[in-house]
Amino acid sequence: MEKTKIAIIGAGPAGIATAVEAKSAGLEPVIILEKSNQPCETIHKFYHPGKRVDPVYRKRKIEPEGICRFDTCTKEEFLALIDDYIQRYELDIRFKQEVRNIKKENDCFVVETNQGLVVKAPVVVIAIGIFGRPVKPSYKIPKEIKDRVFFGTQAHLDSSFRKVLVVGGGDSAAETACFLAKKAQVFLSYRRPQFFRINPTNMAHLEKLVQEGKITLLMNTDIQRLEPDPQGIKVIFKDHDPLVVEAVYYCLGGSTPENFLKSIGVKMEGKRAVVNEYGETNIPGLFLAGDLAVEKGSIMSAFNSAHRVVEGIKRHHLARLEREC
Ligand SMILES: Cc1cc2nc3c(=O)[nH]c(=O)nc-3n(C[C@H](O)[C@H](O)[C@H](O)COP(=O)(O)OP(=O)(O)OC[C@H]3O[C@@H](n4cnc5c(N)ncnc54)[C@H](O)[C@@H]3O)c2cc1C
Repeated sequence: MEKTKIAIIGAGPAGIATAVEAKSAGLEPVIILEKSNQPCETIHKFYHPGKRVDPVYRKRKIEPEGICRFDTCTKEEFLALIDDYIQRYELDIRFKQEVRNIKKENDCFVVETNQGLVVKAPVVVIAIGIFGRPVKPSYKIPKEIKDRVFFGTQAHLDSSFRKVLVVGGGDSAAETACFLAKKAQVFLSYRRPQFFRINPTNMAHLEKLVQEGKITLLMNTDIQRLEPDPQGIKVIFKDHDPLVVEAVYYCLGGSTPENFLKSIGVKMEGKRAVVNEYGETNIPGLFLAGDLAVEKGSIMSAFNSAHRVVEGIKRHHLARLEREC
């Protein structure tokens, strides 16, 4: 467990700019948690090599308000600029740390990652962009059974099935299996011989339901494919007898930003979160920056939103930052 003053989720343009603004305002320490192994994963992944990166994006010219800014350049030059900010401001970025949950404890936030890292902070800034999706399996899901196959946090929406399979080995798989076991016979398939990422509370709940016979664990099992079946879905494993269930729930990590925000209690209006002029949500001390916080996202608007977040922290939360978590 680590403590910091400001925890930032996502090392894209918005997350990096928030850290730059915070550090130059003397608000530190700041920790950035990034799910990939490099900053600006969205730009690495979606921009083609040599792409022109323009501050005038979708015909909208946005004047810089804060420290971070750029002129028209290539993808590679832009990424070098970001690296330069990281070096110059000595940003503390923890890579390969996908944030799975944020909860409140004694007016501080507890941020948990898929690697088991726990960071406590009085202020949290979410800058995860809009491109997140739940992880899906590599094999194709036949179209006949698509309405019985669920991914990520959608799992909780439909629990009318009586015999189901949950796939995954982390907290979301454990929570989904326990939730569904209220009404259904649940099988939980995980490809490893034992769980190592499930927190003690979820593990205790899971073990209790296994003992009561409501959940059957299928450890060391790897699914090869799903097939339509008169009773629902036939699950073909590489190393286990086939299993027929009514529905399959994949909990392999990742989530849409919308579901992520909903799951931590952020107030939404349609698909967008409700934020004030500083990007602060209905949860005091929890801010959004970048594409998540603005209507039409761009790099310059991400930089500017980071500036406004830090203005909001300076204006309303200096006392909160002094709080011991
Ligand atoms: C093809 C394309 C071309 C574009 N061209 C331009 C352009 O020329 N000019 C312009 O201004 N804009 C352009 N944009 C838009 C611009 O890229 C975005 O507006 C900008 O990247 C938004 O920054 P952000 O920091 O909000 O989000 P992102 O850049 O999406 O960064 C989010 C970061 O958070 C990380 N993350 C996500 N979930 C988690 C989690 N749970 N835990 C930890 N980390 C997480 C991601 O890995 C990523 O690094 C373009 C977009 C696309 C797709």
